[in-house]
Amino acid sequence: MSRASRNARRARQHQNEITGPVPAAVYAAIKAEALCVYCGTEADEVDHIWPVSLGGPEHVSNLVAACGTCNRSKADRLLTEWVLARVHQGVLADHKVAAEYARVMKFKIGPRELEAV
Ligand SMILES: [Zn+2]
Repeated sequence: MSRASRNARRARQHQNEITGPVPAAVYAAIKAEALCVYCGTEADEVDHIWPVSLGGPEHVSNLVAACGTCNRSKADRLLTEWVLARVHQGVLADHKVAAEYARVMKFKIGPRELEAV
């Protein structure tokens, strides 16, 4: 069974919007883009930006070239969750994302706890 067929089956299992299955040639063309959209190194895999397990569609608009390291690191998280986690872990230096993380955490812990900091 091809990767495209497996992903289409997974998408059906999650009752996602399906316009495919995405042909294997499309997967190959995305891989041929050569660079990982997340880190810029050589890409050898295709990532579903919005994970199929979380309702992402099996559609070309949801597919990007990625290296294995980024694809496995992101796994089944939303892009926003993954990027926030990487900034929080110090793996990724992005001041705008770090500021957003701080904002999110501020609301999470509440103003009373912030006054004590
Ligand atoms: Zn990468």
